[in-house]
Amino acid sequence: MKLNSMKLPMLGLTFISVGLFTFSSCSSSDSDSSTDSDTDDVDDSVSIDVDPAYFYTEGETLTITKVSCTLSDGSSSECYQIVTTSVPADHTMGPWCPDNIEDDAEAGGIWLEDGEVYDVDGAFVKNMATFYDDDKWLMYDENGDVYITETEEDCINAANPDVGTEYENFCVECIPDYITSVSQTWLIPVTPVYQSTATYFNSAGGAQSNVPTTRGVALNGIEFSAPAPTSNILSAYTLAPFDDAGGHINVHQGYHYHAATGYSTSVDQEDGHAALIGYALDGYGIYELLDVDGNTPTDLDDLLGHSDDTRGYHYHVDEAGNNNFINGLRGAYVL
Ligand SMILES: [Zn+2]
Ligand SMILES: [Zn+2]
Repeated sequence: MKLNSMKLPMLGLTFISVGLFTFSSCSSSDSDSSTDSDTDDVDDSVSIDVDPAYFYTEGETLTITKVSCTLSDGSSSECYQIVTTSVPADHTMGPWCPDNIEDDAEAGGIWLEDGEVYDVDGAFVKNMATFYDDDKWLMYDENGDVYITETEEDCINAANPDVGTEYENFCVECIPDYITSVSQTWLIPVTPVYQSTATYFNSAGGAQSNVPTTRGVALNGIEFSAPAPTSNILSAYTLAPFDDAGGHINVHQGYHYHAATGYSTSVDQEDGHAALIGYALDGYGIYELLDVDGNTPTDLDDLLGHSDDTRGYHYHVDEAGNNNFINGLRGAYVL
C-alpha cells in the first residue's frame, strides 16, 4: 500500500483550512466573543458511555456482554466484556513478508520507523543494508528470494527477545493458522470514570506496576497493543512487518495492531469530527487523528486526549508511523 503518498495532500489541506478559519474569525469581529469555540471550557470529566452497538459482531469473532467489575480506583462498576478470537472479521490479514526482492508493495506489509510508514516491498528488503547503514543486512538469497520463517516453531523462536543467530536475516511471519485456538478477553468500563491523576503507559524499560500494556480495543475486537519493540527486532537482524492494516500475529496475543491505518471498522461522526475506531481500556473513545477536512486536533493533552461537548473526553490515535496509539489512560481501568 502506498500510504506515504496520501500524506502530502492532507498536510496541504490542514494549512489551508487553518488559514481560512483564522481569516474568517478575524473579519467577523463582533462584540460577542463567547462564540469562539476554541476558547470554550469543556468539562473534561463528562463521560460518554461505551456503545456496544458500534462493535463489529457480524463475523462471529467477537461477543460483547455486560458484567460487574472492579476498577483501578477501587470502585465497583459495570464493564463490557469483549471476547474475541483475535481474528478481524472486517478485513483480511497479511501479507507481511514479500517473497522476492522483485515483488511490489502488494506482496508485503509495512514497517514503522521514525514516524514514517514504509512499504515492505521487495525493494525495501533489497535496500536494508543501505537503509540501516549496516552491511550485515542481507535478507535474501542469490535468486532474490526472501528468507522467511516457515514454521510455527520458527515464528515463536524468532519473536523471542534472545533470538538465536540462526534467525538473523529472516523476515518473521506468523500466519493465521497458528492462532486458531486463541481467545482474548477485554474488560472496559461501560461509563468511563475520570481520574484526577492520569496513568501513563510504561515506555520500554519502564517499571511502573499495575499499568496495563494494552491500550485499547478496536471496534472489531482487535487489540491496540503497546508499541512493537522495533529496535529489539532490528538489533537481532530480523524484521517482523505489519500488514497494511498495522497488525501482525504472535501465538500468545493472536493478531494485534501496532498502528491505525484505516482498515478496521470506523464510525463516522455527524459533525465531521474524526471517526471512532475503538475504545481505550478506560472506556473513553479512540478516534482517528484527522477530521473529515484532514485537520489534526491542536489541543491534545499528553495522553493524546481532549474533550468536546458531543464526545466528552476522548483520544485521537497517534500517527501510524509512530508505532503508537495513545500515551496513557485518563480514566479508571480494570487491572
Ligand atoms: Zn506485535
Ligand atoms: Zn476530538
